[in-house]
Amino acid sequence: MEKQAELKAIFLPFLSTSHIIPLVDMARLFALHGVDVTIITTTHNATMFQKSIDLDSSRGRSIRTHVVEFPADKVGLPVGIESFSVNTPREMNPKIYMGLAILQPEFERLFHDLQADFIVTDMFHPWSVDAAAKLGIPRIMFHGASYLARSAAHSVEQYASHLNVDSDTEKFTLPDLPDKLEMTRLQLPDWLRSPNQYTMLMKMIKESEKKSFGSVFNSFYELESAYYEHYKRVMGTRSWGLGPVSLWVNQDAEDKAARGYAKEEDEEGGCLKWLSSKPEGSVLYVSFGSMNKFPYSQLVEIAHALEGSGHNFIWVVRKNDEGGEDGCFLEEFEKRVRESNKGYLIWGWAPQLLILESPKIGGLVAHAGWNTVVESVNAGLPMVTWPLFAEHFFNEKLVVDVLRIGVPVGAKEWRNWNEFGNEAITREEIGRAIALLMDDGKEGAEMRERARALSDAAKKAVQVGGSSHNNIVELIQELKSLTLSKNLP
Ligand code: UDP
Repeated sequence: MEKQAELKAIFLPFLSTSHIIPLVDMARLFALHGVDVTIITTTHNATMFQKSIDLDSSRGRSIRTHVVEFPADKVGLPVGIESFSVNTPREMNPKIYMGLAILQPEFERLFHDLQADFIVTDMFHPWSVDAAAKLGIPRIMFHGASYLARSAAHSVEQYASHLNVDSDTEKFTLPDLPDKLEMTRLQLPDWLRSPNQYTMLMKMIKESEKKSFGSVFNSFYELESAYYEHYKRVMGTRSWGLGPVSLWVNQDAEDKAARGYAKEEDEEGGCLKWLSSKPEGSVLYVSFGSMNKFPYSQLVEIAHALEGSGHNFIWVVRKNDEGGEDGCFLEEFEKRVRESNKGYLIWGWAPQLLILESPKIGGLVAHAGWNTVVESVNAGLPMVTWPLFAEHFFNEKLVVDVLRIGVPVGAKEWRNWNEFGNEAITREEIGRAIALLMDDGKEGAEMRERARALSDAAKKAVQVGGSSHNNIVELIQELKSLTLSKNLP
C-alpha cells in the first residue's frame, strides 16, 4: 500500500527544563497522530528526553531528535551548561541567551533544509514567526502557561489596576476577567509591576503570537473554559488546548519513568516501593518543580512542618551550596523520618508522574508550576499552593479561587526563579495549610471530590470525541489542507 504523504513538523523547545518537558510531550502527541516530527535541541538538553523519543520510535512513530551543538566555547560557558536550570549560576544566564542568538541562523537553515510543513516553537523564540513567514509555512506558538495566567497578565498590561492601590500589599482586582480575582502588587512578576528588559521581550512575544497561525497550550477546555474563551477573544488569535499532554503520551509506566532526568531503576524503585507500603491517600507529595532552590532556613521550616504534620510524605529536596548554621540538619532529619518510616526524601529528580498516579498519594505541596498543576489535576489530587516565581501566583488563583482544589500556604511575594527572595514561610503556616488539606475535614474532602471530577474530565478530554482530542485532529487536518493547497500546481 502506498504510504500517504506525511505532514512534516519541526518542534523547537526553549532552553529550560520546564518548557522542554511539555513541548516534547506535545511533539510526541503530533507523532502519535501521524505527523513526521523532528525536535531540534542542543546536545545536553536532548539527554533530558531522548529515552522517550527512542521509545516512541521503537513503536513505529515517525519522530527523532536533531541535535545541534551549543556554542559553549564562543560564549565562554563550560561544556554542558546550555539551559536555564536550577544548576545554572545566575551570571551565566546572559551567555546562554548569547548562545541561543548564535544558533538562530542554524535553526532557520534547519527549518528550510528539513522541509518542514509547519513549525511549533516555544514562546521564547519570537523571531521564528518571521522565519516561518519567509518559508511560507505556519508557525504555531507554544505557551508554557495556563490560559488564566496569560489572561491575567494581559489584564494587568491593559488596565494597570495595580497602580491604583496605595501600597504593595493592598489588594486590587484584575479587571475584565471571567472571575473576580484579587492580588497584591508584591505578587505580580517584576516585569508587570514596572517595565524592564523582560517586559520588552514579553511584548515581542505577544506580537509574534498575533502574527502566528495560532498557539497551543498544555491545558484542556474543561479545566479553564472561561479563560480559554476569554484569552482567544482578547488576543484575537486562534488557540488549541491539547492537554494534559503528560497523560496522553505517557500511558505506559516505561514512558513515565523515562521522563526527564530519570534515575537508575533501583533508586526509583526505592521511593515507589516505600510508597506502596503506605495506606491509600495518606502520603503528601512535596515538590517545587525543576527550577527552584530554597535557602537553607526555609528547608528547615519545611522539614519541621512535615514532621509536625503527622502525615506520611515524599519530599523532593534540592540542597543549595549555601550551607547553613547546621549543615547536618537535613541528613539527621532524613535519618529520623526513615527510622519512623514517616517520610522519604528524594535528592534531585523525582519520577513525578509515577508518584502522582499512585493511589497512596493524598495531596501535594507544590509551587503551582503549570505542569505540576496539570499533572495533579490529572491525578485527581488537591494541593497546598506555594507560588514562587514565573506565573505561579496566577496559577494559584486558578487552583484556589476558580477550581477550589487548593489551600494557599500564604506566599506574599513574587521573586525571580534564581533568587531566594525575602520571604520565609513559617512551619506554622505550612502546617496549617497541610492540616486543611490532609486532615479529616469537610474542606479537604470537598476539594478531593472536585479534584477527582477534574481528573475524570482530563481523561475524557484526550479520548476520541474529547475536547483536546478534537482539537488535535482538527488542527492537523487544517494544516494538511493548507499544505496540500500550497503544493498544488
Ligand atoms: N519534574 C519531575 N521530577 C522532578 C521535578 C520536576 O518529573 O523532580 C517534572 C514535573 O513532572 C513537571 C516538570 O518537571 O512536568 C516541572 O514543571 P512545572 O511547570 O511544574 O515546574 P517548573 O519546573 O517549571 O518550575
